[in-house]
Amino acid sequence: MIDVNKIRKEFPILHRKVHGKPLIYFDNGATVQKPLQVIQKVNELYSEYNSNIHRGVHFLSNTTTELYEDARNTVKNFINAESSEEIIFTKGTTEAINLVAFSFGESFVSAGDEILLAQTEHHSNIVPWQMLAARKGLVLKYIPADENGELIYAEFKKLLSPKTKLLALAHVTNSTGIINPIAEMIAEAHKHGAKVLIDGAQAVQHKSVDVQKLDCDFYIFSGHKMYAETGIGILYGKKQLLNEMPPYQGGGDMIKTVSLERFEPADLPLKFEAGTSNYIGAISLGEACKFIASVGIKEIEQHEQELLQYAEQKLSDIKGLRIYGKSENKTSLISFLLKGIHFSDVGMIADKMGIALRTGTHCAEPTMTHFGIKGTVRASFALYNTKEEIDVLYEGLLRIKKMFL
Ligand code: PMP
Repeated sequence: MIDVNKIRKEFPILHRKVHGKPLIYFDNGATVQKPLQVIQKVNELYSEYNSNIHRGVHFLSNTTTELYEDARNTVKNFINAESSEEIIFTKGTTEAINLVAFSFGESFVSAGDEILLAQTEHHSNIVPWQMLAARKGLVLKYIPADENGELIYAEFKKLLSPKTKLLALAHVTNSTGIINPIAEMIAEAHKHGAKVLIDGAQAVQHKSVDVQKLDCDFYIFSGHKMYAETGIGILYGKKQLLNEMPPYQGGGDMIKTVSLERFEPADLPLKFEAGTSNYIGAISLGEACKFIASVGIKEIEQHEQELLQYAEQKLSDIKGLRIYGKSENKTSLISFLLKGIHFSDVGMIADKMGIALRTGTHCAEPTMTHFGIKGTVRASFALYNTKEEIDVLYEGLLRIKKMFL
């Protein structure tokens, strides 16, 4: 069991007011708030150690380089990768997927090959593949979802063929919170010789992830959704695969030697880290992994599941409220609509009550189209949220209903 009151003290922003009301932050799917442990680390780095990494001979540069590489090692342990060479720092999930789409796309696919995605992906895991498909003459196929938003496994199996070069799939769907059965899907895709990329942007902050056990070829996530800074993320890739892929961007840090005619790329992981990387963000990501480990990912999961069940039960009491994305396997996120009331109105009035919700398509327009709607209201919970806050949301939604009906 986690001690929520103690945890809330770690998050200064949770104690502020919005429109004169205590802040209730339910927009954790978009980004989470930061604990003092991470804020103080960043402060300490800028106050005491800041210097560009990997090219210094002086104390500050050596120290930041060491901290940066330590952070890589912490991330390696956090997802149980085999080697820290398999951990590439990127700007975030979006950049990591673009990196794979470009670089895997350069060496592993040719015209007529197929890439398999789910119908319920975030735009970040659709558009880079559409761009690659247009460049290389590939065919994109989509695993359909049922009326609840769950992927139809039998259809997935039918779509796999020797032409499938890659399955790119979210671990957790950001618009519904549904956890896809990725372990089975990875094994199934591998039987057909396809590689598998997992978008873990909505997973690593909620569940324990072991990339070796999953046996995925790529696993990707963003720091800002897991208590670290913005502008930093991770591409995990199996070493052999990353070694066979060409660099994504050229510049400093990613080379061994350069002449006027040619260059020789650096070894992993630097081959994929051109230019001055966000080393402060990377170190903050290492600190965020330590923060999660200190609370305990199992404890976080248990607390968030309790919140989910409580919220689902309460919200289901409200007549005319429909939840989109129903499944036994969900993270702590509820997407819903109040009958006859536009989702933006719900979000804007809730804001006046101090409640931060997200509204709209959640960068998942095809999922909304599948449900036959334009968007939803999304409440997503993190380790610092409480049942009392859900009660405030419940009362708030009843008030909103009264205003409109
Ligand atoms: N994939 C999923 C499932 C997400 O939830 C998000 C963020 N909403 C992204 C990708 C994109 O992440 P970022 O904006 O941090 O690159």
